[in-house]
Amino acid sequence: MQANAECFNPHCRRCPRLRYHFKRLRSRYPDYHNAPVPGFGDPAARLLIVGLAPGLHGANRSGRVFTGDASGDLLFETLHRFGFCNQPVSRSVADGMRLDDCRITNAVKCVPPQNRPNRTELTRCGDYLRAELAVLRPAAIVALGRLAHYSVLRALDLPLAGHPFAHGAEHMLDGGAMLIDSYHCSRYNIQTRRLTAEMFAGIFSRARELL
Ligand code: SF4
Repeated sequence: MQANAECFNPHCRRCPRLRYHFKRLRSRYPDYHNAPVPGFGDPAARLLIVGLAPGLHGANRSGRVFTGDASGDLLFETLHRFGFCNQPVSRSVADGMRLDDCRITNAVKCVPPQNRPNRTELTRCGDYLRAELAVLRPAAIVALGRLAHYSVLRALDLPLAGHPFAHGAEHMLDGGAMLIDSYHCSRYNIQTRRLTAEMFAGIFSRARELL
């Protein structure tokens, strides 16, 4: 089943603050994508990875989720290690990357100032995530960070209280999907060793096991 067509409007302009942010970015970084970034990957994937938002110099530059920055370096290296993609390095939309049984998306499709979407933006863009989840019906979901975790729960109309976020926590959701929590693979978390490559590998080892 093709997920993008139903789940995403590449011309979406529903968030005024992010529209204004794009306007400034277009003059500062005219060669960047500077527009909403769609989900990417296998349209029939059983594994959905949900990040927070496009990175300024990663997805917002390249136009593909997690492509071209430190977060993506660790993510794709790890996905390749567990057989979810055909190459360990993701640099540009033209690099030949293919995901296998795996799809990556963000809770918010537009780059926010300071990489922090506000509550309203998370709610608005949650409509796209809800549609994506409904079309894909993944067996496993890896949420990268607390806000991605909450976004998945809200998109599925599940209570936040019964599903606390913790790295490595697993939540069996109504409908049968397993939600696995991970710290986000951000440059900050990697540099501070809040998240190590082995901790991250443990998350995808478990996802592979579940599938
Ligand atoms: S963040 Fe989502 S809802 Fe807001 S403008 Fe971008 S695509 Fe649209």
